[in-house]
Amino acid sequence: MERSVSLLGKRFVPFVPEADILQAVQKVADAIARDYKDQVPVFVGVLNGAFMFVSDFLKYYPYPCEVTFVKLSSYRGLTSTGIVETLLDLPDHVEGKHVIILEDIVDTGRTLQELVHMFSNRNVKDFRIATLFYKSEVYNGEYPIDYFGMEIPDKFIVGYGLDYREQGRNLRDVYQLNKPPMINLVIFGKPGAGKGTQAAFLKEKYGLKHISTGDVFRYNIKNNTALGQLAQSYIDKGDLVPDEVTIKMLREEVENATDASGFIFDGFPRTAAQAEALDNLLDSKDMKVDATIALEADDEILIQRLLERGKVSGRSDDQDEEKIRNRFDEYNRKTAPLKAFYQEQGKFHSVNGVGEIQEITNRLARVIDGL
Ligand code: AMP
Repeated sequence: MERSVSLLGKRFVPFVPEADILQAVQKVADAIARDYKDQVPVFVGVLNGAFMFVSDFLKYYPYPCEVTFVKLSSYRGLTSTGIVETLLDLPDHVEGKHVIILEDIVDTGRTLQELVHMFSNRNVKDFRIATLFYKSEVYNGEYPIDYFGMEIPDKFIVGYGLDYREQGRNLRDVYQLNKPPMINLVIFGKPGAGKGTQAAFLKEKYGLKHISTGDVFRYNIKNNTALGQLAQSYIDKGDLVPDEVTIKMLREEVENATDASGFIFDGFPRTAAQAEALDNLLDSKDMKVDATIALEADDEILIQRLLERGKVSGRSDDQDEEKIRNRFDEYNRKTAPLKAFYQEQGKFHSVNGVGEIQEITNRLARVIDGL
């Protein structure tokens, strides 16, 4: 078995070796043989994934039988689209016969539902469902799975007939998608420290979802939503928006990003209550803050940066030194104490935020790569 295989840029690592697969195939064949030795069942392989399973299964099945195939389609890439089409229908000779569906894998059960629907229009004597791999955790179909080779957790797998975008079917063993571990970062620093700029680079480099609470507020203000109207007066003065509003908004942002492989929180948390809310939210999803990285720079440098940015961005809170100083005051009073909160958890890292953008990105990457 290869140590890992690469298909269309994704890495897959060993999951089930060929010998174990064949044992599972034989287990299914033996069980069906016991039940059907006095009948002549029709095995219906579900293409494309089941072709290898059907082929090996038949070699283990010792009694008279027939075989045919159907073809449905529901997988597109790594997640099921939920759309199931019939590409190759059942032949007529199944009428009046004992039919046993041979599936390579059953996960949510959507494909099965379509198959059952196919059979409900035919006059088959009875039909049963057999699958080589069974994701019992995610199966929510109403039909019992009569035979299965092995139960597996909800992992994306390839090999032994199963594909990732049509590749990998020829592998003798089964491999699983190697998901890099999730990283969640808080990027910390005063207004103008470069949090947004750096987050944009880190997001690309590490494949993370960037959530900037300031950007979300500005988006809502621009679109004149209820949230925008609520936040505007605070933002215009350089005050913080109340925790309750900000925390609720952040929770929604995280919950909407179902396929994220990690987050960069930029501009959140800014108060002790927000930091606790973030820990609780992530904890409820079996996630955690891995690191808080502060970008450090002197106030006078930051004020110059913000006034420059204000000329280009048009942000009212960047154009007036009074408002900027108020944002610094808010930071010193409410946000700076979070340094101790994260230091106690051993998660606080500090990076010099003055220099070339690329140089600062490299400093951040060194911290992240060392986690
Ligand atoms: P930023 O773009 O991060 O500088 O945020 C701009 C403004 O949005 C801040 O001055 C606050 O008024 C508001 N804001 C952004 N994030 C938060 C937060 N976590 N809590 C409270 N207010 C926030």
